[in-house]
Amino acid sequence: MGALFTIVVLGSGGAGCNLGGSTSSPPAQPTPPPPSPYPQQQGYPQQQGYPQQQGYPQQQGYPQQQGYPQQPAPQAPPAGAQRPLLPPLVGVPAQQQEVRQILAELVAALTPDNRAKVANIPMTFDPTYEVNAFAGCDERRQPFMAATAGILEAVDAISQTRATDELFGTKTYDAYCAQVLPQLSRSETARAALPMGIIPPNLGPDMRRWSRAREIFQEVMAFTMGHELAHHYLGHTGCANGQPMSSAPDPALLGRLLTRIPTFNQVAEAAADSSGAIDVLTAGRARRPQYAWSENGGVFLFDYFARIESAGGGGGPLTLLSPVQFLRTHPNPLGRIPLVQTVARTWRAQNPG
Ligand SMILES: [Zn+2]
Repeated sequence: MGALFTIVVLGSGGAGCNLGGSTSSPPAQPTPPPPSPYPQQQGYPQQQGYPQQQGYPQQQGYPQQQGYPQQPAPQAPPAGAQRPLLPPLVGVPAQQQEVRQILAELVAALTPDNRAKVANIPMTFDPTYEVNAFAGCDERRQPFMAATAGILEAVDAISQTRATDELFGTKTYDAYCAQVLPQLSRSETARAALPMGIIPPNLGPDMRRWSRAREIFQEVMAFTMGHELAHHYLGHTGCANGQPMSSAPDPALLGRLLTRIPTFNQVAEAAADSSGAIDVLTAGRARRPQYAWSENGGVFLFDYFARIESAGGGGGPLTLLSPVQFLRTHPNPLGRIPLVQTVARTWRAQNPG
């Protein structure tokens, strides 16, 4: 009953072979703590500040993109180095709980009108390994939010490698992408999990690395869910109207709800990127003195999808033959980075402090 309408944010892959196990669990090697790869690191580098801004970009669509090789903005790890270390985020149940908490914070940071539309929206986890997250309406026209097992694996891999590279100057994100993304871009059975061996064994146990990885995991998932949540409160799904929320659909039945995937709508996607980014920044600031989420979650996510496209032989116009569903249903990921960065600069100018 009722139209099924889902908005797909991310996507690729399918269920299948394991590439060697996620490094979601701490490495077992009895390795002593790393000798001294970065002895002087007393904390995170100071944030550099942001260039001038001139108001929010028009939400008519995205700037042209120019193929892959651009690097995203310099990573701007948090100012204020004395944050307490976060415990490692290990295992799927813990990751799911983290996402639920992130969603609650995103909802709480909305304007009252928008918050009323999505308060208590149910979150469900799709057990498939497609890399995806979505805002959907079930058969009763009740809104829900969903993330797949695949996106948890992908964001775990992004955060583990990015954290390692930030702290130790390694190139593990590049190594991970080179090893995993070619299959992910071509096969529906490949998985995004971080293979063993990408993180150097002596760095694996470092607690600063685990802590920073957890911050990045939160930041990328916050952007992802913030974008999806925006599709609901901006009215793109049409089913989030502030009605009393019911329970989330059964994950086992979720596939049935996802049979209809709309072609992407540039204006709606840009609006969701902009509103989602503002929500992430607002919710992030409320986390102080913990790490305040930035737009880097979006930058990291889009970089990842651009690399999937590039690995699949893309890098130019999207191809309808791409097995990566995200690339069929969303604007070019690299084109979305400048918009999110401009929104963030504007937000900081308007919300100093
Ligand atoms: Zn979207």
